[in-house]
Amino acid sequence: MGVRENLHRVRERVRLAAARAGRDPREIKIIAVTKQVPVPSIKEALKAGIADLGENRVQEMTAKMAELPAGVRWHMIGHLQTNKVKHVVGRVELVHSLDSLHLAREIDRRSGRLGVVTRALVQVNVAGEESKFGVSPAELPDFLVALQELERVEVCGLMTIAPYVEDPEEVRPVFRELRRLARRLDGRVPRVRLNHLSMGMTNDFEVAVEEGSDMLRLGTAIFGARIY
Ligand SMILES: *Cc1c(COP(=O)(O)O)cnc(C)c1O
Repeated sequence: MGVRENLHRVRERVRLAAARAGRDPREIKIIAVTKQVPVPSIKEALKAGIADLGENRVQEMTAKMAELPAGVRWHMIGHLQTNKVKHVVGRVELVHSLDSLHLAREIDRRSGRLGVVTRALVQVNVAGEESKFGVSPAELPDFLVALQELERVEVCGLMTIAPYVEDPEEVRPVFRELRRLARRLDGRVPRVRLNHLSMGMTNDFEVAVEEGSDMLRLGTAIFGARIY
C-alpha cells in the first residue's frame, strides 16, 4: 500500500480517536518518522500534506535535509549526543529528547552562538525501562528547575516512548502519567511551559490521542515496516 493511502487511514484513525475523547483532531500533529525511509517515499508523504518529519539519528537527518525542501520542519526524536548538538541547533523545529542537563547546557551554548532559541521537550522514562533514555518522573521537577536557567532553551512540553506491548491498552497508564506530570508541573517553574505532549507511535497512537497527545511520531503506519 502506498504512503498516501496509509496516511489517509492514519488520519481517519486519529480523527476517530479524537472524537472518542471529545478532542479536535486539528490540534494533533502527525510527525512522519523517516528513519531508514528512502527519499522518494518521504516526498510522497510531503505531497500528501505532511509538514513535519522526525529522525532519531543526526547524520541521517542532515543527509536528508540536503535532499528535501527547505520548508520541512524537522524534529529530533532520538537520544542526542552532546558532540552532535552543533548539527541540530538552528535547523530543527523541536528537540523531543532532552534527557540530561549536560545536553541542555550544550544546546543552550550552541544556540547562544547562533543567536537562536531552541525549543525542546523533556523526555520522561515513565515506565522506568532500563533500555530507554529520559529522566524519571521523580527527577523531573528538579530537572525543570535546573533548565529554567538556560535562556536559549525553551522547554514547551514532555515526550515519552511507551514500552512495546501487544495490546496498546496496557500502556494507557504511561500516557496518562505523562499528561498528569505535565498538568501538575506546568507553570510551577518560571519560563518552563509544558503545553505539548509528544506520545504515541504506530503501535499505540490511538490510545495516546485519547490520553491527550498532540504530537504523534509515526513511522511504520505511514511508510510500512522498516527493513533492518
Ligand atoms: C522509530 C521511532 C518512532 C516511530 O516508530 P513506529 O513504531 O514505526 O511508528 C517514534 N519515536 C521514536 C523516538 C522512534 O525512534
